[in-house]
Amino acid sequence: MRTLILFFFTVITILSAQAPVFDRYFSDRTLRVDYHHTGTKGTELFALDKLYDEGIWPGSRTQLLDPLNYGEYMLRVFDVASGALIYSRGYSSIFNEWHSTDEANAGIMKTLHETVRIPFPKAKVQLTISRRDKRMIFRELFSAVIDPNDPAAVNRQRRTPQFKQTKLVDNGAPSAKVDLLILGDGYTKAEMQKFRDHAKHYSDVLFGTSPFKERRKDFNVWTIEVESAESGIDKPGKNEWKENALGTMYDTFGSARYILTEENRTLRDIAGQVPYDAIAILVNDNRYGGGGIYNLYTTCFANTDAKGMEWQMDYVFVHELGHSFGGLGDEYYTSSVSYTDFYQSGVEPWEPNLTAATDRKELKWSSMVDPSTPIPTPWNKQAYDSLEALRGRLDRLAPDYYAKREPLYQATQEIVKNAEYKGKVGTFEGAGYVSKGIFRPAVDCRMFSLSLVGFDPVCSAAINKVIDSFTR
Ligand SMILES: [Zn+2]
Repeated sequence: MRTLILFFFTVITILSAQAPVFDRYFSDRTLRVDYHHTGTKGTELFALDKLYDEGIWPGSRTQLLDPLNYGEYMLRVFDVASGALIYSRGYSSIFNEWHSTDEANAGIMKTLHETVRIPFPKAKVQLTISRRDKRMIFRELFSAVIDPNDPAAVNRQRRTPQFKQTKLVDNGAPSAKVDLLILGDGYTKAEMQKFRDHAKHYSDVLFGTSPFKERRKDFNVWTIEVESAESGIDKPGKNEWKENALGTMYDTFGSARYILTEENRTLRDIAGQVPYDAIAILVNDNRYGGGGIYNLYTTCFANTDAKGMEWQMDYVFVHELGHSFGGLGDEYYTSSVSYTDFYQSGVEPWEPNLTAATDRKELKWSSMVDPSTPIPTPWNKQAYDSLEALRGRLDRLAPDYYAKREPLYQATQEIVKNAEYKGKVGTFEGAGYVSKGIFRPAVDCRMFSLSLVGFDPVCSAAINKVIDSFTR
């Protein structure tokens, strides 16, 4: 009997380990699934909105199951007839960003509109969404059976493209490339040449930065020339409101520099006119800001009045793509934030560039650490932390912000440049907003300091893995 059970177990294991075949389960189109994500601190629920048949499938046809395991949420699609898992992807969401605000902590309920996209199924599927619990284990929160052959279930209306599109970088068929879509918000029709110049500039900036530089041939870049009725975007904190097409705004969830849009349906309707895997939204405004949510989008301010500070936009653009494309966590921190605000003791963060591990053997990037590098790795943390009072007093929106920041910036650069293990991979304490207990892989990185420094080797490897998930 035992032999028989083992035999069956082996067969099941082999069957389930087999990669699903694209043509068996999917046709070469995209099913866009819109839903409302509602809740407050400690509770959340999902309600289906609409389903759309949306053009060719731009994602991988060979890596249907998520090889990365990044993100707060996991989307899974099962073939109803066989029960087989046929598609999965990790992602993070705007709801999750809101979830840690004072509003949510006060118990206020809120609804945000979100989208997941999957290859178009040939037969009935069960779609589930799971969220990580405090121990990082995915727990299912939502499940729905979708019948793609029910004519009433899926909106198949062909929308006439609203705006002009271009393929800025063309390296071949979308199914084997990362299709990056650059959109503009707050650009009027008269400002469209400016948008074209900006799109070209940021595309060049991205492909001038490793590891994107070496992987340029793995990307297509699309643009859609989205016209806004007014120039610039909303600044609710200053009671300034603009008629901008994509609905991006500063002051998202109470943070002056945080730019997101809650107009997801509008964004997706416009984006859907081209095959896209990743979205970057350039914002025609001069106030410092941006945002990046894994597998959702990047936003970045694209104008500046501050002379000599233009490089900051380049910094923001690539840093935010580190979040939205690479699944990377912020490596910076302040000592005012306590570990327990963000982390559970003894639980490893999912971000590929953050760790709580203090044992070399348990370290997720151990293969990249030289045996002679101590773990944890010493760096001039004390000197860095001593500048914190000054950093905390800076007002990013004040007119003299840049003048006041400059000496601080220079002092920080000195500390990082003179670190003993500069250029080495190790575990440097202070990352993911907290000063103690979370470690970053290098003393400096595009995810750590506000500078044009490149990605550290661990971040680069993580980005390469994401690119591979689209192209291999
Ligand atoms: Zn960041």
